[in-house]
Amino acid sequence: MCGIIGLTAIENYLREPIGSIIRRCLKRLEYRGYDSVGYAYIDKQKLKIVVKKAKGKIDDVTRILDFKNAYSNIAIGHTRWATHGKPSNENAHPHTDCSESIAVVHNGIIQNYMELKGKLVRKGHVFKSETDTEVIPHLLEEYVKSGMKPIDALRETLKILKGAFAFAAIFTQERNKIFFAKMTSPLVLGISNKVKFLASDIPAFLEFTNRVIILRDGEFGYISPQEVYIESIDRGAINVRNRIRVISWTPQMAMKGGYPHFMLKEIHEQPLAMQRTLQSLNIKEILEAVDLIINSNKIFITACGTSYHAGLVADYALSSLLGLPSFTFIASEYLKYFKAFGDGDVGIIISQSGETIDSLIALRKMKEKGVKTIAISNVIDSAIPREADVAIYTRAGPEIGVAATKTFTTQIITLLKIILQAAKQLGEDVEKIESELNKTPKISGRVIRAHEAKCREIGRRLSDAKSAFYLSRGIGVPLSMEGALKLKEIAYIHAEAYPAGESKHGPIALVEPNFPVVFSMLLDEYRESLIGNIMEMKAREAYTVGLIPRNERQVIEHLDTYISLPNINPLIAPVIYVIPMQLIAYYAAVSRGYDPDKPRNLAKTVTVE
Ligand code: GLU
Repeated sequence: MCGIIGLTAIENYLREPIGSIIRRCLKRLEYRGYDSVGYAYIDKQKLKIVVKKAKGKIDDVTRILDFKNAYSNIAIGHTRWATHGKPSNENAHPHTDCSESIAVVHNGIIQNYMELKGKLVRKGHVFKSETDTEVIPHLLEEYVKSGMKPIDALRETLKILKGAFAFAAIFTQERNKIFFAKMTSPLVLGISNKVKFLASDIPAFLEFTNRVIILRDGEFGYISPQEVYIESIDRGAINVRNRIRVISWTPQMAMKGGYPHFMLKEIHEQPLAMQRTLQSLNIKEILEAVDLIINSNKIFITACGTSYHAGLVADYALSSLLGLPSFTFIASEYLKYFKAFGDGDVGIIISQSGETIDSLIALRKMKEKGVKTIAISNVIDSAIPREADVAIYTRAGPEIGVAATKTFTTQIITLLKIILQAAKQLGEDVEKIESELNKTPKISGRVIRAHEAKCREIGRRLSDAKSAFYLSRGIGVPLSMEGALKLKEIAYIHAEAYPAGESKHGPIALVEPNFPVVFSMLLDEYRESLIGNIMEMKAREAYTVGLIPRNERQVIEHLDTYISLPNINPLIAPVIYVIPMQLIAYYAAVSRGYDPDKPRNLAKTVTVE
């Protein structure tokens, strides 16, 4: 998830160096990516493209990139969140063609870049980076060399690129135009009389204009200081005037893409994040992990907080689907298993930031005893994936909200992909589950749209409670643990999750009239007994909330309120069922007047033991 910016103004209109404007705009996009920064502009005297880029955050590389000495009327810029190729000066954007007369900034993934790169190399193109992005300038160059104008070269290039992407390109040949294309990844245009912008997100240019065009998938074209041209792959030229919208955001709100909090934004971002994870999982790494898993004696899964819950979901899948011996523990408690670690075992370490110190220590302890390790992380090149034998990235994009949301769902997707691949290799037929897993981006989008209002209502109702239970059975237990953690960490309401069968062994003593109990009922073999557990809570006048499968009727009479969720395989259900839980916790926090983005006493990345 990168940030793209571009602007083109009429000559001598800008009252400051274009580099300074690019820097300001990039600063507002930095939440989208922060491992390297770069920009390119056309030097009008020398008629050539100048590229400046470096690894690091904007503030750290400002001096090297010399923004305030970049004068021009046209420039593009980028802040990167690496997917292909480590963060480095070479891999930072913009990327150029062989003749350095085309520069490109890109957000997203070019899925077929290996194949395209192979062909281009055979034609003599020389690549300078490891990114997927670099095929774009070389492809454009190929077409331009054959005599095409940039817009035609762009159209041809789009016909062969596969994946989810948005990009912007400048050509020395067309000195006032910035060319663009959008397929899935976001791209918006900012329109003002003498200057035009393009960016990944509106806040980037909101200081200059609030007249915008939100580009749609399959659209491409160019902006020049006084013109906007948009064409659609299927529908030809577009009437630009009809598409201009005037927005009324404050820059503050806009930073969060119009959402009042990053957490809510990130909950809503999940369909896109999941799609991105599914698209970018690297099969070579998955196969390496599978190979370790199926040939292991024992599997140890370790993590902290939300990642630990993702680990428990994986643990359930490994045991129930594959019958493998797996043990999951909270990383800071590794000593329990230290003597059991040994050669031939596999460790799976899950950490969003890849820097969680407890998990890093557990990883090192495992390695010390000869355990082969697999890291699941969201941050490329962070400590845990660097030290593990196999690193697999969730690529959910930066998560700013302290309470993990999209990183949880994408961790589960990643783990399930690995487990399903292992199942295939062990001769299981998992085709149906896999096809359901591939549909989670769509299903999650529908769940958010259909149930947000109901979740708000339930969140408000829960906001008065002092305590709540989250109950389920089977794979629903770690899911419930995650739901309870969300309510605790942002709404500061005590919440406890445990297997529903345990109520009668103690905790039900706490239940009095109106005590909230959130049940997750999945389409699994626990249905009957869970209905019994719901009834025993109802009999004690608990306030019963149900997350239930769509066709479930019998249980409704025992629930005070419920949300009907799509009928999906129980292994995949945590990815979908957790969404209403996140929303309920979010709205409970907001009703209590708390800021869910800044929960007290908590920080995003825990790097102290
Ligand atoms: N795939 C490109 C890269 O690795 C863009 C990254 C992104 O959009 O996150 O540089």
